[in-house]
Amino acid sequence: MTLENKNLVINYSSAKYSWLKSGGKISHLYKIYNQIDLSILFSRNDIKVKSLLVIGNLSNTLIKDEGFKGIGIKLLGDFANIQIYSDYMLVGAAVLDNYLSKFCYQKSISGYEFLYTIPGSIGGNIYMNAGCYKQEIKDKLISVIYFDINDNKIYEKNIKNLQFDYRRGFQKNNTIILYGKFKISHGNQKNIKKLMHEYEEIRNKSQPQKVNCCGSIFKNPINQSAWKLIKSSIDESFYTGPIKLSKAHSNFFENEPYISANNIDLFISKIQKRVKDKHNIILEKELRIID
Ligand SMILES: Cc1cc2nc3c(=O)[nH]c(=O)nc-3n(C[C@H](O)[C@H](O)[C@H](O)COP(=O)(O)OP(=O)(O)OC[C@H]3O[C@@H](n4cnc5c(N)ncnc54)[C@H](O)[C@@H]3O)c2cc1C
Repeated sequence: MTLENKNLVINYSSAKYSWLKSGGKISHLYKIYNQIDLSILFSRNDIKVKSLLVIGNLSNTLIKDEGFKGIGIKLLGDFANIQIYSDYMLVGAAVLDNYLSKFCYQKSISGYEFLYTIPGSIGGNIYMNAGCYKQEIKDKLISVIYFDINDNKIYEKNIKNLQFDYRRGFQKNNTIILYGKFKISHGNQKNIKKLMHEYEEIRNKSQPQKVNCCGSIFKNPINQSAWKLIKSSIDESFYTGPIKLSKAHSNFFENEPYISANNIDLFISKIQKRVKDKHNIILEKELRIID
């Protein structure tokens, strides 16, 4: 059996769909709607040997101008569903954070208010261990259900057996995160809504809005703020031009649409060098840059 042509997109433009509105093309992107699509695709040896890139909502990914020549995977269909069981929620990797947060509000499930303000998908969250307002996705996770392309099988791993850390979640080579099993705790709907809006307000005040950006460029080093290190290391020229640091938050940049991804990468390296020269600290990128 082969996958239908409707599943394959040739030269998928990451610039068109990414939050940065910049980035190279994915030569072969397969849209995967269900587990059957997955096992058909990865039963092919010519597919298995190529490098793999799974994309979520492209809010934390920049593909360099040369593009990605391996196999791209975009989950849809069955993986965009949420199912509630008596003591957990099964959330598809393609579900968007904002959608899950609003869904939980409707069902009076508390603890997912922080996701209201993150523009990613659950797959991207689990990969990155995304978080804000002192909460991380790992705090809510019971287990991760993933597909291993090496043996064409689905596995489930309990969070207790996974080493999630600050912005480092489930990052196992040759795997595709399919679902997260999440905790359920019931709360008061009014309070849930209030918290969602409080978080939204904080973000509107502290971060740039309605611009092309990727969230934080760098992780915060232990006991340090990346934005402070950046601010104290650079000059005013970094705040002007087609790719510039945000005046609202120095660990964010804003860029003009369809600008070279390689120039963005270069801009990031320049910031990194300034901080290294001034503070002797190498900032680690939070943004995923794909060569
Ligand atoms: C305005 C703005 C604000 C942000 N604020 C925050 C914040 O407060 N906290 C925070 O943590 N992040 C924040 N981010 C970053 C981003 O939203 C998160 O990292 C989010 O988790 C990325 O999800 P995504 O679906 O967009 O992932 P993508 O960017 O598509 O992918 C990110 C990584 O996850 C991998 N991946 C995605 N899905 C899967 C899957 N199903 N299986 C295997 N690997 C997968 C990709 O290969 C890639 O390496 C912000 C970004 C923006 C633009």
